[in-house]
Amino acid sequence: MRSVVHIHDLSFAPFISETTIQTRIQELASQLDTDYIGKDPLFLAVLNGAFMFAADLFKHLKCQPELSFVKVSSYVGTKSSGRVDELIGLQTSLKKRHVIVIEDILDTGVTMDKIFTLLESEQPASLSICSMLLKPYSYKGKHQPKYIGFEIEDQFVVGYGLDYKEHGRELPAVYQLIR
Ligand code: 5GP
Ligand code: MG
Repeated sequence: MRSVVHIHDLSFAPFISETTIQTRIQELASQLDTDYIGKDPLFLAVLNGAFMFAADLFKHLKCQPELSFVKVSSYVGTKSSGRVDELIGLQTSLKKRHVIVIEDILDTGVTMDKIFTLLESEQPASLSICSMLLKPYSYKGKHQPKYIGFEIEDQFVVGYGLDYKEHGRELPAVYQLIR
């Protein structure tokens, strides 16, 4: 694992190693296999951050999973309520499907709440959350995530898909901000 990395104006120290991540991913995959085998599960990975986690997780899944990548976008609509959220990239119907949302990190939970609202309207058979990281002290989301790689303190991390101003996503391990 590389030692300190510098991204833009900040420095980051090694936090969760590549080996630790990969071991945990194998455990998550077998948990998901147990829960979803025979259920034709559909995984929706949220871009951009979840791309690496989704790819590594998928190498181990044996539950014949389907995968789509989605992106949350917010635009100014015509309604008085202001901004409107939409999910881009959804091409298959979710009706009666067992859907698992793959995220990189859950912080306040605001993003996941938006995603849930958008997906629930499609009437899936079930909807659950699989996130590599969770910040339990700041998470206020309405839905308890069932599959979590690691719980971390409230701190800023990069690597393994997560960016700081669009850089650092390529790092195969997770790094924490040095204060
Ligand atoms: P939430 O809506 O749960 O507060 O935040 C979710 C989004 O905030 C994540 O998808 C991610 O883009 C960003 N985020 C939250 N915490 C971190 C962090 O520690 N590092 C990075 N790189 N992004 C974070
Ligand atoms: Mg994200």
